[in-house]
Amino acid sequence: MARNTGPVCRKCRAQGIKLFLKGDRCYSEKCALNKKNFRPGIHGKRRRKLSDYGLQLMEKQKVRNMYGVLEKQFRLYYEKAARTKGVTGEILLEFLERRLDNVIYRMGFLTSRAEARQWVLHGHIKVNGRKVNIPSFLVKPGDVIEIKEKSRQSSRLKQVLDAEEPRTTVDWVDVNHSERKGTFKEVPTRESLDQDINEQLIVEFYSR
Ligand code: SF4
Repeated sequence: MARNTGPVCRKCRAQGIKLFLKGDRCYSEKCALNKKNFRPGIHGKRRRKLSDYGLQLMEKQKVRNMYGVLEKQFRLYYEKAARTKGVTGEILLEFLERRLDNVIYRMGFLTSRAEARQWVLHGHIKVNGRKVNIPSFLVKPGDVIEIKEKSRQSSRLKQVLDAEEPRTTVDWVDVNHSERKGTFKEVPTRESLDQDINEQLIVEFYSR
């Protein structure tokens, strides 16, 4: 299966913001942005002025990398959002939020979407009592997500859940960490999502 490869911290450095792609490391002093808060490459420290197109492209790449989605699939989400009644940019974000790997991350079981994706691919996750190993599976309101019985005592899971600072969770999920189970209560509203995202720029990028 195709996936994003390459040095992930460069993606944050290119954007100049934390995208939280590496889990625990992102919350520590070791985060690359603490040491090298400039763009990668030999001209990385130079100031640059972006065109409208450059801004749109940057925003699209930022959100795509945040959610760990490949270009082809990201475009498909956009096309589906554009065909759906409502505000295209907001619907695009709803699709991304409803991905199973994202929901597990949002429930705080793991510290990055990439790790959550691995767990789904390796068959550790059940939705409504049935194993689902497709990270892009779209969760619906009321769906119950749980860690499979055999995987519940995993040392990695314990490490995350026993950490001093629970990383997340969010209002639109209801989680019982000790039971390794949670419910996706509702699709989040735009107000409850990351305010640093400018989804209108993404819509402009694809509708050029
Ligand atoms: Fe981004 Fe995390 Fe790397 Fe920091 S450690 S640069 S937040 S991926």
